[in-house]
Amino acid sequence: MIASEHAHGRTFWDCTSPASGERIGQIEVMGRNRVTQAVERARHAQRAWCELPIKERAQRVLGFCDVLIENAEELVDLLVLETSKPRLEAISNEILVLADLIHWHATHAADILKPREERLHLLKHRKSTISYVPRGLVAVISPWNYPLMLPFSDVTLAALAGNGIVLKPSEHASLVALKAKELWDVSNMPADLLQVVTGGAETASLLLNAGVQKVSFTGSVDVGRKVAEQCAKNLVECVLELGGKAPMIVCADADLERAARAITWGGFANMGQACVSVERVFAHTAIYEPLLERTRELVLGLRQGAPEDVDIDVGALVLERRIAQLEALVADAVEKGATVMTGGTRLARPGNFFSPTLLKDCSPEMRVMQEEVFGPLVPIMRVDTDDEAIKIANSLPFGLSSYVFSKNTKHAEAIAGRLEAGSVVINDVHSDIATPEVPFGGIKLSGYGKVHGIEGLRSMCYTKHISVNRTPLPGRSPFWFPYNTKDIPRALAGMRLLFTRHGPFGRLSRWL
Ligand code: NAD
Repeated sequence: MIASEHAHGRTFWDCTSPASGERIGQIEVMGRNRVTQAVERARHAQRAWCELPIKERAQRVLGFCDVLIENAEELVDLLVLETSKPRLEAISNEILVLADLIHWHATHAADILKPREERLHLLKHRKSTISYVPRGLVAVISPWNYPLMLPFSDVTLAALAGNGIVLKPSEHASLVALKAKELWDVSNMPADLLQVVTGGAETASLLLNAGVQKVSFTGSVDVGRKVAEQCAKNLVECVLELGGKAPMIVCADADLERAARAITWGGFANMGQACVSVERVFAHTAIYEPLLERTRELVLGLRQGAPEDVDIDVGALVLERRIAQLEALVADAVEKGATVMTGGTRLARPGNFFSPTLLKDCSPEMRVMQEEVFGPLVPIMRVDTDDEAIKIANSLPFGLSSYVFSKNTKHAEAIAGRLEAGSVVINDVHSDIATPEVPFGGIKLSGYGKVHGIEGLRSMCYTKHISVNRTPLPGRSPFWFPYNTKDIPRALAGMRLLFTRHGPFGRLSRWL
């Protein structure tokens, strides 16, 4: 998708439409000077920004959200052009979800980031206050699949917490981020507080080493590892939101219509290019055949086309190279015993079109059951018991989202409790990433750290503890120098009193 051009010592890449292959714009590949300049500007602007009361910061971030919404049509046009997603998806899954995330965090930021007193159980003569201090500069490095919602939820949370931000959007979808930056500049936000640096891996790497205090990375496992290594070298904290391989367990007592629709939407929305996409279906043998039949009907009914066509459900893939990878996954599965129920091939038309594909009779050794597909390909496997489904679901090194479908809520919750994942959604799909109140993030190879919710907002700060005595203190504390061996029996007796089951305090804590 990228051709390069050099002008006046600067390099530019062409951006192309996934649906037509046509050139739609250009981005600069920014080098060291541009990255350093961006970092300095954001750092300078942050000094004044972090001094503002949180409520004022929240009002101004909400003002930016207003400007985004006022310009929604223009943002949608760009999203559709760059990613080929249907217009309605661009509105609902990008702008609406982002607006909700911004509103909830802005509304609650003052409470969430308010200093709090921690009551001490032993040192009652001391008062401990925990406060949340802006880190300084946050680097946001983002992927192309939700090129507005993902980076700008990080950007706005970082700003609410009092930070400056340098965003490096994906080279495959930077135009919408640049547009959002233009809107930031005309809103009431300090223009320099947010910087957008464009380019690929090299630009991102320069940013990681430019003296930022926190990194929020969303992307693939392989790149996530490199980011983690770089952050470890610099001893900078990072959040890694990486790939997923969401299992969906459909129990014998599931609502079949809802499960079939959830597979269809959860597997093929955004052409399956979502970290929370349904990537493996484990269907109980009692409902296997009717579930397959209904899902097949629904998938065959999906309307695929270029996003400017009216009423499409699915568009094209953002990356052309993904098509050959999907074909290889299908071939491997078929060779190992799977059957293609729908799709399986590239469409005979210009653009990166691959038809929505369902595979049945899949088994755990197939690559499609093990690797992140990140495309319109859903493998379905028959299972005899819930235990079997849970065991196979947990056998992979991913742990982002997972789904359980059952009409028996207690039963579904019991399964959810046994699944190894950052979130488990019962009788719904994708909603975990769009719920502002709760932390989102994976375990195992899906990364670490959380975005959203109380944890997500607080992680944009460092926690600071201030401890002060409540009453005047003597000149020397009993544990300070000089040590006196006569104190040893007293120290042992005190410890026993407090912490063994024989002492009154020890008994109390065990009773509690
Ligand atoms: P990617 O890892 O290829 O790229 C992500 C970003 O990292 C891009 O901006 C890219 O330029 C940058 N990058 C590339 N090399 C780098 C390096 N060496 N150092 C630092 N940055 C570098 O991912 P992608 O293809 O853009 O996105 C798809 C992946 O993202 C999928 O695996 C998907 O599951 C994952 N994802 C995860 C979440 C989540 O919340 N967990 C959300 C969306 C996407």
